[in-house]
Amino acid sequence: NAARTPLMAGNWKMNVNHVEAVHLLQKLSWTLQDKKHDFERVEVAVLPPFTDIRSVQTLVDGDRMKIVYGAQDVSEHDAGAYTGDISAAMLTKLGCTYVLAGHSERRQYHHEDDALVNAKATKALAAGLVPIVCVGEGLEVRKADGHVEHCLGQVDGALAGLKPDDVRKIVIAYEPVWAIGTGEVATPEDAQEVCAAIRGRLEEISPAVADSVRILYGGSVKMSSAGGIMAQPDVDGCLVGGASLQVDEFAGICRYLD
Ligand code: PEP
Repeated sequence: NAARTPLMAGNWKMNVNHVEAVHLLQKLSWTLQDKKHDFERVEVAVLPPFTDIRSVQTLVDGDRMKIVYGAQDVSEHDAGAYTGDISAAMLTKLGCTYVLAGHSERRQYHHEDDALVNAKATKALAAGLVPIVCVGEGLEVRKADGHVEHCLGQVDGALAGLKPDDVRKIVIAYEPVWAIGTGEVATPEDAQEVCAAIRGRLEEISPAVADSVRILYGGSVKMSSAGGIMAQPDVDGCLVGGASLQVDEFAGICRYLD
């Protein structure tokens, strides 16, 4: 869809050491520059671990890279006695553009529920960050054909109480849990089904909101599968885990139009 700039976001998860992070970003930038990548046509973001964000900032600023970056999680609190947490304001100060909210691994291993995801998205927006709200069903729900309803419930929960003007800015990522890190990719039609349903839900807020919000697909996306997924009318980008650690794969995904 021409109204929405596609976004390719690489979620590095809890991987790479400091030197590897710097190399990965530098090599990605060189590879995309070589191909004369037009970042206004396809936006490229990386989501490093917290501990590498400062180095990523230095590199992006120093080399005037057009790659943007963000974090994988954010606190629902502003400041104070929350040992181990990182606030939205801290991320803004580090030049972050994006932050994930409610990634399935946070929901699974840290018991994050929709109310918490909503609180995190709200704090992110207030600090000028763009939350990438993640939704998606597990295998049991998919087998019982409850995936659309499940994902719409998560969207409703994540967006509760947000002003339409704020909802317009966010990104939603549909990531079927059974397809994350498993090599199992949903078909382009599977991705489209849920992304279209999410778009339909946003229509209920307003057509302008539905038109502006980018909806990504995530789950074992590779260079070879990106084109088919991106051909779907309601898929506006990909959230990429494993493949984002391989420069050629991730650059290939960003270059799906080639
Ligand atoms: C993710 O973590 O958001 C993800 C989609 O991972 P992978 O691409 O490895 O399935």
